[in-house]
Formats: sequence, C-alpha cells, structure tokens
Amino acid sequence: MSDLTDLYQQVILDHNRRPRNRGVLPTANRVAHGDNPTCGDQCSVYLRLEGERIAEISFEGQGCAISQASASLMTTQIKGKTAAEASSLSENFHHIVTTGQAPEEISDLAAFAGVHAYPARIKCATLGWHAAMEALREKAETLKS
Ligand code: ZN
Repeated sequence: MSDLTDLYQQVILDHNRRPRNRGVLPTANRVAHGDNPTCGDQCSVYLRLEGERIAEISFEGQGCAISQASASLMTTQIKGKTAAEASSLSENFHHIVTTGQAPEEISDLAAFAGVHAYPARIKCATLGWHAAMEALREKAETLKS
C-alpha cells in the first residue's frame, strides 16, 4: 500500500476512519450490489427513492480504503439530490478519477483526483457510484416493502 500514499488525502482518510451512512437501510426501496474482484472490494448501496429524489441512502461493504471512502463520500454527495443530479455528479466523479482534472467547486470529490495515476484503482473509486447508479435505474432490484 506504500505506493498509494499520495492517494490518501485528508478527505479519504476521514471517510475511511468515520464512514458516513454505513449499514443496511431498512426503509430502502432500491438496492444494488457492486463487485470489484481485481481488488476484492464489495459495496451494496441502499436507497429510498421518493419520486425523483433520493430521500435516504446508505452503503455496506468491505475492501480497500479507496473503495470504502469513495462509497461513503458518494452517499453524502447524492443524498437529497434527484436521480438526474446524482447521475451528473457520478459523471463528474468519473471524469475526475479518469483524468485527474477536477473543477474547483466540487472539492470533496477532487480528493480522488490522484486515483487517475493508478488505473487499477479507478474501479475501486467508482464501485460505490456504479452501485448507486444501478440502484437508481428502473431495472435495479427492488426490495419488497
Ligand atoms: Zn480496491
């Protein structure tokens, strides 16, 4: 892990130490699971969609610090947003981790800009976001309420 020191900026460390919105969400009406076998990361995203808005969201998972911190940050970024807004944020995040270029106004997401130098880690960083986007899509598994 020593070659990844550069990646562990403050935001990532903080989310890794104190994950936000972690655990099963009993009131969820959407759930999706993401798997990154090359690193061993797993992430389940639970969310409650009310109309177009993500009223509640949580994640559960295990894996490397990048994957878990990214999932934690993702929940804080898209909670309360509409599905369209969340999708736009997801695209921004994907752009940041693949190019290393981040618009200044999305500072927390920019903590992951260093990931672009480690292509194998991009899937770690995007795992939670992919699961969230899948949960938002209509074909995602729907929990019985
Ligand atoms: Zn990983």
